[in-house]
Amino acid sequence: MQRFDVTEFADPAIAMAHKSAVRSIERVVHETAEPTPPEEALARVVEQLRNPKALVITGAGVSTASGIPDYRSKNGRLTKGRPMTFQEFAHSPNQVRRYWARAFVGIQFMRAAEPNRAHFALVELERAGLIRGIVTQNVDGLHTEAGAKNVIALHGDMEQVVCLDCGALHERSLIDAAFHHANPTFFGNVNKRGLTVNPDGDVELDDADVERFRMIGCPVCGSERLKPNVVYFGENVPKARRVLADGWLDESTSVIAVGTSLAVMSGYKFVLDARRQGKPIAVINGGPGRADAKVDTLWRADVGAALDDVLDGLGL
Ligand SMILES: [Zn+2]
Repeated sequence: MQRFDVTEFADPAIAMAHKSAVRSIERVVHETAEPTPPEEALARVVEQLRNPKALVITGAGVSTASGIPDYRSKNGRLTKGRPMTFQEFAHSPNQVRRYWARAFVGIQFMRAAEPNRAHFALVELERAGLIRGIVTQNVDGLHTEAGAKNVIALHGDMEQVVCLDCGALHERSLIDAAFHHANPTFFGNVNKRGLTVNPDGDVELDDADVERFRMIGCPVCGSERLKPNVVYFGENVPKARRVLADGWLDESTSVIAVGTSLAVMSGYKFVLDARRQGKPIAVINGGPGRADAKVDTLWRADVGAALDDVLDGLGL
């Protein structure tokens, strides 16, 4: 069985993109700034929200309480090996099969995950008219499931599948039904001991399980190069989505980043842009992050508890 790393690409441009994606995945965030004292941090976030509307940026840290691990914390995704890059996915049929075997099992866990109090607290802020919307880096759909209306899933969501050859978009449920048909006994026979879902929606499987998984073809063109319609490391956020999110930032008075280390540029960029626009920025997160030294308020806290305190502080 071919292992996870595909380090050689014939095309130097692809090799370069892959390398850069791996660097982004492996970016380590260090302590770079002293956190704001909690009482003061709370007061400042409340003040930001009293001057609506704020833009909220979220990451994996808002979903950990729903049972989906994040990337960079102590027990995060990266302790189990890195996710594959777009270049690996797009250029290796083995990696595609490996992904789908793992995702076929992972989606069951993902669907079982429910929003937690952090998601619901943000819905309260939205209903009170205090936030412009939520730009999330998560692909789990939990903000929408909690009832949030204005959500941009910056990295896409798990419920769509794209064919890399003909470009057709398919509902995940349709693709899953076809996988079930091709692999009727797969899920029942997988070694599920100790399995936990990754933030990208897959699980770690034994190689033996991956090997017996049967791929399906695109319902339109038959190609097996099917990819979840999420933004992989090594891929860019689609332009239209980026522009929409930038527009929300322009309309916002401040930025609050919740549950994210902002290690990846697509999220970090909002902090850089907001800073250039002179807007107050707060980070509420359980650990260090890439933007810590660039923000006005650095609240090191459990995000669910912190957001509940924010609701109390606003009298909501
Ligand atoms: Zn196709």
